[in-house]
Amino acid sequence: MKCPYCSYKLHFFSKALNKFGNPKTCPKCDKKIKLSPNYKMFAWLIVPAYLVHLFILKPLVIAAGFSGSGIAGIWGVLLILFTLQLHSTEQP
Ligand SMILES: [Zn+2]
Repeated sequence: MKCPYCSYKLHFFSKALNKFGNPKTCPKCDKKIKLSPNYKMFAWLIVPAYLVHLFILKPLVIAAGFSGSGIAGIWGVLLILFTLQLHSTEQP
């Protein structure tokens, strides 16, 4: 993930991003940044992700002896994490 101001690369598990609550601050330029999912991307990914879930993952999970329910919830969380982006909270 990149800082929207200075393009400084922030690791997803970096200290700056793992503080609870928004806004967070970029360790390099000290500006406020917000971590939130890209809903547009999320909307684009939800259909293929659901199809993969339905035809590949769910049968595998059931074949492995687990219940298929609950996996959809995990998928939702993973998708949100995948689409998380840094946004600026200050006007440039
Ligand atoms: Zn920065």
